[in-house]
Amino acid sequence: MNEEAELLRQRGEPVIHLGIGEPKNRAPINAILNSTAKLNTGNIKYSPTDGIPSLKKAIIEYTEENYDKAVDPDNVIVTSGAKQAIYNILYTLLNPQDEIIIPAPYWVSYPEMAKMVYGVPVFVTPEDGGLHPRMEDIVEAASSSTKAIIVNSPNNPSGLVFKEDFIKEIVEFCEEKRIYLIMDDIYHKLVFDGKKAVSAYQFAKGDIEDSRVITVNGISKLYGMTGFRIGWTIAPRRLVRVMTNIQAQTTSCASVILQAAAEGALVGLQSIVENLRLTIQNNRDIIMRELKSFNGVKTTAPDGAFYCFPDFRTYETDSVKLADFLLKKALVVTVPGKEFGMEGRLRLSFSRSVNDLVEGVARMKWALDPSAPNEIYIGDRKMVRDWL
Ligand code: PMP
Repeated sequence: MNEEAELLRQRGEPVIHLGIGEPKNRAPINAILNSTAKLNTGNIKYSPTDGIPSLKKAIIEYTEENYDKAVDPDNVIVTSGAKQAIYNILYTLLNPQDEIIIPAPYWVSYPEMAKMVYGVPVFVTPEDGGLHPRMEDIVEAASSSTKAIIVNSPNNPSGLVFKEDFIKEIVEFCEEKRIYLIMDDIYHKLVFDGKKAVSAYQFAKGDIEDSRVITVNGISKLYGMTGFRIGWTIAPRRLVRVMTNIQAQTTSCASVILQAAAEGALVGLQSIVENLRLTIQNNRDIIMRELKSFNGVKTTAPDGAFYCFPDFRTYETDSVKLADFLLKKALVVTVPGKEFGMEGRLRLSFSRSVNDLVEGVARMKWALDPSAPNEIYIGDRKMVRDWL
């Protein structure tokens, strides 16, 4: 669909992209200065496999400040994005046929990564038809082959921040059953209305070494630095050692220039995080306002991240068909719910511009809702709806 949208765009069509999960901001100035300073030395060599020590120090400080957990350098590994962090974790934890529980809806890459290391993804869909995972469903899905559970809160694609009770119960369950709990915390600072994403460490017994919790984070969403490709993992040192071996034989290390950028962002002014959060929260309010008047669409207001995951089953249950229809008729890119393990929904990203949100939803209404006016301007072309 992205390729089709790109082709349309190249032909000059006014495509609106509600599929992209990245903010429009510029990288923080301190990230740019630190990476250009590194580049200007001309001394660009390998770094230690697990990351530049000064970046690891900044990550330790970030973790201690935000998670209230003492971290040792041996508990940290820097990777080329959170994506590589998660892949390396799965490679480390899963032997062929080992199971990983993935609550649905889930980020599209989890099952693919699990399969790439010959693991078995076990999907758990809330029995009540909602978007919040339920502990009883997870307990039922666990078996003697379960090695890990992956939890992402705030969630991509639902925007839900998982409840404190759920996080507490899942930590206790994983500790009791000796299952690793992978917390994909990539959106943990992007939470709205004064709410907070609860840290799993809050309920973990003992220190990081004894804990079953593994935390993934990165600069992509925190600072809107998706193209810099830096993420990290916090885990017991025995796991970090294996992840370091994997990285040593695959990428050697993340690029030192980009590691310098990440360090710059982490030690620089943090007001950018709050500015980004406020912009995204405002975008959330706008898309919710627009969706409210969309007859037939049911949506839960997201508490975090930059996605909402409305239910379009009144119009179409096949989400791939629906997304394709919206691209062709309304020139709006969305992501089919099927990719996230839930049919009948579309993921809409509100990380981009307010104009795109307002016009994107207006075009979708025009294409689907018989009560919407049957004429609309798309770019400078007047379009008449003749299919309802
Ligand atoms: N986890 C989730 C839930 C994500 O949405 C993303 C990015 N879309 C990632 C991980 C990967 O982040 P990164 O850019 O650091 O690889």
